[in-house]
Amino acid sequence: MAMIMEMETHKFQTAKKYIESVYDTVKERNANEPEFLQAVQEIFHSLLPVLVKNPKYMENGILERIVEPERMISFRVPWVDDKGKVRVNRGFRVQFNGTLGPYKGGLRFHPSVNASIIKFLGFEQTFKNALTGQAIGGGKGGADFDPKGKSEGEVMRFTQSFMTELSKYIGSGIDVPAGDIGVGAREIGYLFGQYRKVAGHYDAGVLTGKGIGYGGSLGRTEATGYGLVYFVDEMLKDKGMSFEDKTVIVSGSGNVSIYAIEKAQEYGAKVVACSDSNGYIYDEKGICLDTLKHLKEVERSRISEYVNEHPHAKYIEGSDGIWTIPCDIALPCATQNELNEKAAKTLVANGVKAVGEGANMPTTHNAAEVFLQNDVLYAPGKASNAGGVAVSALEMAQNSSRIAWPLEKVDAELKKIMVNIYRSSVEAAESYDLSGNFVAGANIAGFTKVADAMIVQGVI
Ligand code: NDP
Repeated sequence: MAMIMEMETHKFQTAKKYIESVYDTVKERNANEPEFLQAVQEIFHSLLPVLVKNPKYMENGILERIVEPERMISFRVPWVDDKGKVRVNRGFRVQFNGTLGPYKGGLRFHPSVNASIIKFLGFEQTFKNALTGQAIGGGKGGADFDPKGKSEGEVMRFTQSFMTELSKYIGSGIDVPAGDIGVGAREIGYLFGQYRKVAGHYDAGVLTGKGIGYGGSLGRTEATGYGLVYFVDEMLKDKGMSFEDKTVIVSGSGNVSIYAIEKAQEYGAKVVACSDSNGYIYDEKGICLDTLKHLKEVERSRISEYVNEHPHAKYIEGSDGIWTIPCDIALPCATQNELNEKAAKTLVANGVKAVGEGANMPTTHNAAEVFLQNDVLYAPGKASNAGGVAVSALEMAQNSSRIAWPLEKVDAELKKIMVNIYRSSVEAAESYDLSGNFVAGANIAGFTKVADAMIVQGVI
C-alpha cells in the first residue's frame, strides 16, 4: 500500500515538475506576451491530472511542442489614406497547429493587436477547433489597424494591402482565415476580392464568413452567438433551468453579442443590457434588437445613440459598469479580460447563476476562480463560442462540394455540434473527478484530441 502511494506521489511530482519547467521556458521565451502566457497557463492549469495518468504526453514532449506555433508571420501593411498620406500597419498570421487540418481562425483588425494577442488567440483556437470534432487546425491573424473613423475607401485600401501579403500563405487546403473583431462581411468581401485578383484563380474555400452570393453559408453570421446560447442552454437544462424569464446581460454589441441577444430573446429571456467600448445601455424593458442591429450593422454608430429611439433606457459612460447590473445569466461577448475578479464578485453577490463566454478569454483567471468557487455554471469560450468556427467548417464543406445547404440544415448541425462539445467537456471533466468544471473539461477534451494526433504523426 505504502509503495503504491509512493509511486502515485512520484508520478504526481514528475508531472507537476514537467508542467512547471515547460511553463518557465515559455515565460522566458515570451516574456513580453502577457495574453499568450495567460492562455498557456489556463490550459496547463487543467492538465496535471491528465499527465499523471498519461505519461506519454511527457515522453513525447507534447507540451514543449504545443506551445510553439508552427509558423508566425509578421508583415508590413502600407496603404494611403484619404489625404494622400502613406500609413503603415503591422499584419500577423499565426499558423499555430495544423495537426487536425488546415489552419483555421479569424482575422482581427483592432489597434490593440500585437504578437501576444494573436498568439493567445491562435493557441486557444487550436483546442476550440479540436472540440468541434471537425478537421481543422488552429490559426489566427490580424493587424493593429483601427477601422473606426475610417472611410469606406480607406478600409478597402488597407484590407487589399493586407491581403496582398497574406495571400502568399493561405489557401483552402493550407490556411483558411475568417472574421473576428473589426472584420465582418464588408472586410471579408474586400479580402476575398483581392485574394482572387492576386492568386489569379477562384478558390471559394480560402476564406469563410463570405457573403451568401459568392460562396458563404447561411447561418454563419449568427453562428457564434446562437451557438453560445445553445451551449449555455444545455448547461442550464442539466440543472433543471432554462433561459425562460431569465434576466440576461450581454457585453459588446458586435456580431457575437447581437446574435446571442437574438437567440436568448427567442428562448424567452429578457436581455437588459449591452455595451460598446465607450459605455453601456440599460433597458429594463429589454433591449430592442431592431434598433441595435440598425445602429451597429447599418449605421456603424455608437451604442449611446440607442437612447434617442428609447428615451426610457439609460446610457452609462464606461463599459465596465455593465457587470453591476443584477442578472441571472451574464454573457461576456466583447473582448479579452473584460470581466475581472471584482466584477465576478459583484455578479455572484447579485445572484448570477450562469456565465457563458462568447468572447475569447473575456474572464481573467481570478474571476474564473470566483465563479468556480461559488458554483456558478461557467462556460469557457473555447467551448461555448466554438459555433462560429464550426459553421465556418461547414462553409468549407459546402464550398468543396459546391452545394449550398438550407439554413435549417446548418442550424441543426450547429446545435448538434454545440451539444456534442458540451457533452464531451462534461465527460472529460467527470473522467478526472472534476465534475461541473467545464473549464477543465473543455481544456482536457481539446488537448487530448490534439495531443494524441500529434503523437501518431511523429515529431514534426
Ligand atoms: P465585433 O467587432 O463585431 O464586436 C466587438 C464588440 O465588442 C463591439 O461592440 C466593440 O465595441 C465591443 N468592445 C470592444 N472592446 C470592448 C470593451 N472593452 N468593453 C465593451 N465592449 C467592447 O467582434 P465580434 O463580435 O466578432 O467578436 C467579439 C469577441 O468574440 C472577440 O473576443 C472574438 O474573438 C470572439 N469571437 C468571435 C467570433 C466570430 O465569429 N465573430 C467567433 C468566436 C469568438 P466598439 O465598437 O466600441 O469597439
